[in-house]
Amino acid sequence: MPRPGVSPGQGRPRSGRERASDRSLGGPCLSFLWLALALALPDSLVLWSPVEAHPLPAQGHPAKFIRLAPQLQEAFGWWNLTCPTCKGLFTAIDFGLRTQASVAWVGSVAIKLCMLLKIAPPAVCQSAVQLFEDDMVEVWTRSVLSPSEACGLLLGSSCGHWDIFSSWNISLPAVPKPPPQPPKPPAPGSPVSRVLFLTDLHWDHDYLEGTDPNCENPLCCRRDSGPPPASQPGAGYWGEYSKCDLPLRTLESLLAGLGPASPFDMVYWTGDIPAHNVWQQSRQDQLRALTTVTALVKKFLGPVPVYPAVGNHESTPVNGFPPPFIKGNQSSHWLYEAMAKVWEPWLPAEALYTLRIGGFYALSPRPGLRLISLNMNFCSRENFWLLINSTDPAGQLQWLVGELQAAEDRGDKVHIIGHIPPGHCLKSWSWNYYRIVERYENTLAGQFFGHTHVDEFEVFYDEETLSRPLSVAFLAPSATTYIGLNPGYRVYQIDGNYSGSSHVVLDHETYILNLTEANEPGATPRWRLLYRARETYGLPNALPTAWHDLVYRMRRDTQLFQTFWFLYHKGHPPSEPCGAPCRLATLCAQLSARADSPALCRHLVPDASLPDVQGLWSRPLLC
Ligand SMILES: [Zn+2]
Ligand SMILES: [Zn+2]
Repeated sequence: MPRPGVSPGQGRPRSGRERASDRSLGGPCLSFLWLALALALPDSLVLWSPVEAHPLPAQGHPAKFIRLAPQLQEAFGWWNLTCPTCKGLFTAIDFGLRTQASVAWVGSVAIKLCMLLKIAPPAVCQSAVQLFEDDMVEVWTRSVLSPSEACGLLLGSSCGHWDIFSSWNISLPAVPKPPPQPPKPPAPGSPVSRVLFLTDLHWDHDYLEGTDPNCENPLCCRRDSGPPPASQPGAGYWGEYSKCDLPLRTLESLLAGLGPASPFDMVYWTGDIPAHNVWQQSRQDQLRALTTVTALVKKFLGPVPVYPAVGNHESTPVNGFPPPFIKGNQSSHWLYEAMAKVWEPWLPAEALYTLRIGGFYALSPRPGLRLISLNMNFCSRENFWLLINSTDPAGQLQWLVGELQAAEDRGDKVHIIGHIPPGHCLKSWSWNYYRIVERYENTLAGQFFGHTHVDEFEVFYDEETLSRPLSVAFLAPSATTYIGLNPGYRVYQIDGNYSGSSHVVLDHETYILNLTEANEPGATPRWRLLYRARETYGLPNALPTAWHDLVYRMRRDTQLFQTFWFLYHKGHPPSEPCGAPCRLATLCAQLSARADSPALCRHLVPDASLPDVQGLWSRPLLC
């Protein structure tokens, strides 16, 4: 979840938007685990440094370390350290840290810190640290502690280059950009395609009706949650409005109940298959979720083609997606191979080839349309492997440019699907993506993402004036209830399969299961239409300008915003209303398809309060 804490008020049940910690390590605060491991690591240096070496200070974030470096030089007097000695020293530290004994030592310190700081219950601390420690130590030794970078930081650029999260640019082809051509509405009677959009299914294998929905662990309603207090009801049969995911029967019911929304021409499925019990997931667990849910989708959708994208929960540890330069057991080979195997009936050979390498692919589902499935974990702030090198991981954006240029040359249109939306990415990735969207605005007909679990969108503008809307990314709500939501899914109506089609989104529909009704004794689950976008919001069409205008209408019209707020939570908003600061922050988020760009909200928010609003929706470092 991107912008936690957006609503005012404390000590109340927070909304899905506020608490769905898709982007965290799982539970609302489990991402503090980063802190525990990070704090533990430098301590271990003392253990492995030669006697004459100076220990590095505790640190929570590399940026802090950068600011600390000059003071450290002074405090510890390592002016006399020569470049070769420095590199020798860090090579020794690196060597020492890679041994099993030191990894275990770092782990034990991290567990103690996790418990001391009350980051999670002791059992969760124990399991989570054990799960993360190997990969984290590997990343830290290869990035923060790499001899060249560490000595570049300590002794200056003549000794090495410190470039963690530095900015970078992909190159665009020399082909001049064609003049912008907004799509024309399709002629009356033109074919319309229906695309089923599934995202964030989050199947919990251990979901158990009657257990405590408010247990102390980051995920509840499961075997290890225990019974609820005597005065409180237990988890419902079909799901629960709490920090709980879904039992398989609810996913089965969703797929079996698609009838009123069908037929479908295609399915886009943007990941996050496993549950949020991220402190105890094995590779075997993740593969079981992949194969079980894929088989279920195949069973109910039959011959309809399904095009998946990789979510941040598919891996374990969660968010851990090493770029292809990581080889061997720590690579993502185990995951991408399994995906290629189970998704093979849906994807052509060329797509399976790049899926195996980097978890992304392109294919042509119909004449005139290219579909690009991105692995957005390579843009993620939570993918700790990017500490080693965050510059266009796997060359994915450069590959995207090649695909878009080829589509432009052919006169094809392009849809992009992915899990994490572009406005939530690392800054450089996000800004490069924004530039690519502008360059190929005539070719890019649709962008479809998930991950936030709520129903929202992100408008893209021209880079020069930041005022002409030229594309929109749709962020569809999750199938899961996590946190406090109804289960749901989305259907897009797109300009259909005929020669000259624009392939743009014409409208969308959202379907939900009302959990209160479904969990009544004797009730049968009834999946129903929650709303149609154009009808509900009075949109002339579903093109970027219509969404831009909607944001500014909601700025003036509180009632209209309240409708949005209700639908944003799939018909189950938090009990406390969204006041003025919350409203501005939410609206600002709909304009922020580019990360860390306050200017995008400048017409929405009075200058004086812009920093406050930015502060409300900007992503916290931890949790
Ligand atoms: Zn999710
Ligand atoms: Zn996610």
